Amino acid sequence: MAIVVQKFGGSSCADAEKIRRCAERVLASRERGDGVAVVVSAMGKTTDRLIQLANECWNAWRDAPGGGEGGEVAKGGAAPDPGLPRRELDQLLATGEQQTIALMAMVLEAAGQRAVSYTGAQAGMVTDRNFSRARIAAIDGEELLADIRAGRVPVVAGFQGVTDEGDVTTLGRGGSDTTAVALAAALQQAGAGRVVAEIFTDVDGVYTADPRVVPRARKLDAISYEEMLEMATEGARVMHNRAVEFGARYKVPILVLHSQREAPGTWIVEEAPKMEGIAVAGLALKTKLGRVTLTKIPDAPGVAARIFAGLAEAGVVVDDIIQTVVGDGVATVAFTVEHSDLAAIKPVLEAILHNLGGGHATIDVGFSKVSAVGVGVRSHAGVAAAMFKALAEAGVNIANITTSEIKIGVLIDQADGEKAMQAVHRAFGLDRAV
Ligand code: ASP
Ligand code: MG
Repeated sequence: MAIVVQKFGGSSCADAEKIRRCAERVLASRERGDGVAVVVSAMGKTTDRLIQLANECWNAWRDAPGGGEGGEVAKGGAAPDPGLPRRELDQLLATGEQQTIALMAMVLEAAGQRAVSYTGAQAGMVTDRNFSRARIAAIDGEELLADIRAGRVPVVAGFQGVTDEGDVTTLGRGGSDTTAVALAAALQQAGAGRVVAEIFTDVDGVYTADPRVVPRARKLDAISYEEMLEMATEGARVMHNRAVEFGARYKVPILVLHSQREAPGTWIVEEAPKMEGIAVAGLALKTKLGRVTLTKIPDAPGVAARIFAGLAEAGVVVDDIIQTVVGDGVATVAFTVEHSDLAAIKPVLEAILHNLGGGHATIDVGFSKVSAVGVGVRSHAGVAAAMFKALAEAGVNIANITTSEIKIGVLIDQADGEKAMQAVHRAFGLDRAV
């Protein structure tokens, strides 16, 4: 019996009818003779609504009386108040997934398929105590495997776990993907053989670029873990990054599929076969980037450490860093951050420069970053040159260049983002024939 973990996200489980449609996928796999474990997210925008409710209660004294009605929230758009007690927030958010597991189990039972719902704690999903971004430490795959072998479908709550002490934790927004892949790994380790993690979502799979930016983007049949991680780091939003990390570490094949359409999807695997002569798997675009340039800072040991430790303490996520030493004992350090971090960064920069005893900070806004990602970057000469040529021909100026072993990234004016993506996509032979 082949075993699959099928993960259905919040929008696929938004109401009873949608849950029934997901259950159809489970039943189809069962009919083929496969064993299935299911992982679900909270229904629709439940998590966002719960966060909003938490914010309202946390600010209830301050805002009383008649604190504002929250209104509609965008999916993924609700940010918890930074002061919120994290343990309580996780306790609350975990209830979202707890609804869906029971409902999904009911729908399966109603179709004559035996099913058992499990919260993260019941499934033995043990994490560290990092509330709101807990990391999975161990999963007990044995009980679930016994269920599956007995013909039952365990339905496991995504996104949540439990500490050794029994406190409920969550894994960070979008964390159900990670639950699914981690569960597949645990089943493999419990002796299930090769377990595929099927991630059902609202796209057909992974594309060579975001089709809204590059209309001629193609769906990939397969991509390697390494490439997927790099694409995600550089702005492609397909699935939770930690899920891909888990897949790579435990060799879990991941299949990204559309939840409402029968289509082949994209495999995320160790090694993805490549089209002849094509070095790049895909492109990613990050927008709304600011560039911070620190000039005339001392060129001495420990300076960079002090700058970036200061930024890390303030919780600022720094993207690419470039340092140049211009001589005369002074250096220039430039790095990019998201626009949303700029307000927080200004006072931190002042403190850092004061502490270093000199230097000057400039902040420029309105950049985008185009990254070309592919394991072929390693072995094909001239990938960078081909990219720069395509950009030059499109009249796009490059502000910064950064590379990794499998990526070439260019910082450009935000207004040039689409044009640059399309030009580079075409130059690397990624365009779909029309
Ligand atoms: N329900 C959680 C969220 O909305 C986890 C998930 O959907 O994967 O972030
Ligand atoms: Mg969700």
